[in-house]
Amino acid sequence: MSIQKKMLSELKQKEIFYQAQNYAFEYIDNLETSRVYPNEENLAKLKVFNETLSEKGKTASDILSLLHSKGSLGTVKHTGGRYFGFIIGGVTPISIATKWLTDLWDQCGGLYVSSPINSELEVVCEKWLVELLDLPKESIAGFVSGGSMANFSAITAARYHILQNLGWNVNKKGLNGAPRIRIITHEQIHASIRKNLVLLGFGDENIEYLPSDSQGRILVNSIPKLDNSCLVFLQAGNANSGAFDDFDAVCKMANKVNAWVHIDGAFGLWAAASKELSYLTKGIEKADSWALDAHKTLNIPYDSGIVICKHPDAMANALQATGEYIIYTSKKRDPMLYTPEMSKRSRVIELWATLRYLGVQGVDEMITTFHARAKQIEQGLRELGFQILNEVVFNQVLVACDNEAKTKKILDYIQKSGECWLGGSTWHGKTVIRISISSWMTTESDVAKTINVFERAKNN
Ligand SMILES: *Cc1c(COP(=O)(O)O)cnc(C)c1O
Repeated sequence: MSIQKKMLSELKQKEIFYQAQNYAFEYIDNLETSRVYPNEENLAKLKVFNETLSEKGKTASDILSLLHSKGSLGTVKHTGGRYFGFIIGGVTPISIATKWLTDLWDQCGGLYVSSPINSELEVVCEKWLVELLDLPKESIAGFVSGGSMANFSAITAARYHILQNLGWNVNKKGLNGAPRIRIITHEQIHASIRKNLVLLGFGDENIEYLPSDSQGRILVNSIPKLDNSCLVFLQAGNANSGAFDDFDAVCKMANKVNAWVHIDGAFGLWAAASKELSYLTKGIEKADSWALDAHKTLNIPYDSGIVICKHPDAMANALQATGEYIIYTSKKRDPMLYTPEMSKRSRVIELWATLRYLGVQGVDEMITTFHARAKQIEQGLRELGFQILNEVVFNQVLVACDNEAKTKKILDYIQKSGECWLGGSTWHGKTVIRISISSWMTTESDVAKTINVFERAKNN
């Protein structure tokens, strides 16, 4: 049978889709009882994938079966309630169901003509997000693969805008011989900003790193005299402590002289959508661009990031990347003018589905609950005699014992237990256990169980 005939029959009979569905349901049903992180024995089973590519190919059913029986053993269960590593987030049921449905649509979201529904929903989500986060009405949004690409896109817009104001068209002339852009940030900025600045030709040595305080917030009184050649990076949510910079104070200084302020708010910017926590994001609307992740705090499937920019022409010109001023090819939205990519998957549909499902109150509740769980674990661990090294303002809790060796031993015990997973980090030179609450699945009882594991680790 020809490959075409074989595939046509699979598509008609649909058995492989049902097979995949059954496996996926089994995975979900075991989520709460299986190990959060694979043990050595499970990892060893991944060796079966190390095979030579066969001459004749394998059956679809065999492939799905292998993935389910062996591949799933190598997954990290961050969609469950007891994964606290990094800040990865879970998935809302509506977003994953939407992804299933729309995966079969396989839309190419680069142009209006290649997917009208994708373009329409980008416009809708742009409006919803700008309102939800209370950003300037004229802002536009691009839907990219994550926080890194969101930062990348914003930096290209800033670079274009600043140089244009200094009489230099960077699209035409490039960076060689361009007026100097001053890059100002602080030592606790996320590595993604540094990486993108290097990728975009600014060079690590040209970044001015200002000092930060005990929580990792920029020291406002260390900011030098700014002017319109300055690009300033601030952070909503320090990846260790969860701390937020003083946006209001810094933006006021920048706005007076037309310096560009970008806020990396990959997981933290969502605090703006919580009534209880929005004091943390005071003044963000005075910035010029923002980056955030839907795949982290909003619990959308990977990969899903958002760049928002107050200067539509700067972003569209920078990302169209022709020498000339932007040419709009259609009156409808062509998403490739808002992102570095041309072809891209229609990831915005899952974001739209989750926002529509939760509504303003639901988003608020989900985000506020992360904070409540973080406070619960903070209190529980304090009662057990652990040290908490940060002010728990959002979803991050940094834990340490009296000495480094003990901290490492406890981290190792917890990671091996498989009952929950959390990572290590260093904070002001000290080894810490880093807890991030970012899955809607995490219940009070998940937190109680986790505190229990800490207690056992301590007495072990
Ligand atoms: C995660 C993160 C990033 C990078 O985002 P990706 O989605 O991983 O590309 C950037 N900044 C901060 C503060 C983050 O937490």
